[in-house]
Amino acid sequence: MSLMNTDLHSSLKKYFGFSKFKGLQEDVIRNILSDNDTFVIMPTGGGKSLCYQLPALMKEGTAIVVSPLIALMKNQVDAIRGISEQHGIAHVLNSSLTKTEVKQVKEDIVNGVTKLLYVAPESLTKEENVDFLKNVKLSFVAVDEAHCISEWGHDFRPEYRNLRGIINRLGDNIPIIGLTATATPKVQEDIIKNLGMTDAKVFKASFNRPNLFYEVRPKTKDVDADIIRFVKQNQGKSGIIYCLSRKRVEELAQVLQVNGISAVPYHAGFDAKTRSKYQDMFLMEEVDVVVATIAFGMGIDKPDVRFVIHHDIPKSIESYYQETGRAGRDGGEGHCLAYYAYKDVEKLEKFMSGKPVAEQEIGNALLQEIVAYAETSMSRRKFILHYFGEDFDEVNGEGADMDDNARNPKPKEEAKEEVVK
Ligand code: ADP
Ligand code: MG
Repeated sequence: MSLMNTDLHSSLKKYFGFSKFKGLQEDVIRNILSDNDTFVIMPTGGGKSLCYQLPALMKEGTAIVVSPLIALMKNQVDAIRGISEQHGIAHVLNSSLTKTEVKQVKEDIVNGVTKLLYVAPESLTKEENVDFLKNVKLSFVAVDEAHCISEWGHDFRPEYRNLRGIINRLGDNIPIIGLTATATPKVQEDIIKNLGMTDAKVFKASFNRPNLFYEVRPKTKDVDADIIRFVKQNQGKSGIIYCLSRKRVEELAQVLQVNGISAVPYHAGFDAKTRSKYQDMFLMEEVDVVVATIAFGMGIDKPDVRFVIHHDIPKSIESYYQETGRAGRDGGEGHCLAYYAYKDVEKLEKFMSGKPVAEQEIGNALLQEIVAYAETSMSRRKFILHYFGEDFDEVNGEGADMDDNARNPKPKEEAKEEVVK
């Protein structure tokens, strides 16, 4: 299928109201429209959904979108329905639907109305669904959050590993689109191998976030006082402070409050109502700071978060990148500060000691990388990007001076000792 520029742009305008593609979107979409397998690696917020939504709307048949979370699927379906007169243009197929609803979904698919069908991997693997889908016209299968396939990713989902087999049963030569924000070469290899997409064209965007400033401070017993000082210096700005434990979250939120800082706690131990109340307070800027476990952040889009503090070292560079990535979404400043003490690393190791050996090995390897990050005297941006398989010029690259090591290089002798160690 060959398309004039204007066709693609007018479809973008017509369906989404955007006048320009973002980053690699146009190239990705052209590749998908030519029925090739496609692998898309873009940071969160890069605009991956549109990469499969637009071609799905343009192509004949129904595109299946595999996604791990019902909440994510619902958001997307609502958004797509919002751009069309036809309610049936997008559907979610899951076990919570009534018989009548399932019938309607199937009818819409058979009648060619449904362009996007969102399913969780658990639903896709159900015999009755496979039987139905193998007899209808499919345009392609998009596997969103494809890192769920890999044990090296931050969100391993065993059911994702069965997808290839299912897709084979749905028909011959159905194009596959894999999408993820996980940039590590290990995870990418796993995805390509597991989805059998060795011929896929790979589109990888840069993961550099030049407006983020990276800093690591040694963690002492005065860490709380240090955090209070930092937050007060940034008064009126929005920030997230991540802690490892729920207990610490509640304690620190209280310490901040006592010191006149408007802060709320957030962790998965609160009931849903309390969680959404605190989340909304942060989003509506009734409070400046949310102190949270990593339960906070998925799908939260506050563009002007000005700092992300890690009270405890995170479990991998990958997680650190995701969590700090919530700062400076609007392109403005974003200060990413992590406190580091080796005894926290030992704590994390202890957490893992009850887990299966394979999982422990992976966990420890990831942990060693974040330790190396915390202890390095080189450009932190270079370190992170190198971890993601990306070269970075620490002299002239974008954001080269935006970290503590770049601003205050350690004396040569000290740096040398570190290398030897
Ligand atoms: P990802 O899945 O890569 O994290 P999303 O698909 O959720 O990112 O998109 C992030 C945001 O970017 C959304 O608000 C989306 O509407 C917006 N977006 C996507 N493509 C464009 C575009 N071409 N122009 C403007 N905004 C876009
Ligand atoms: Mg996405």
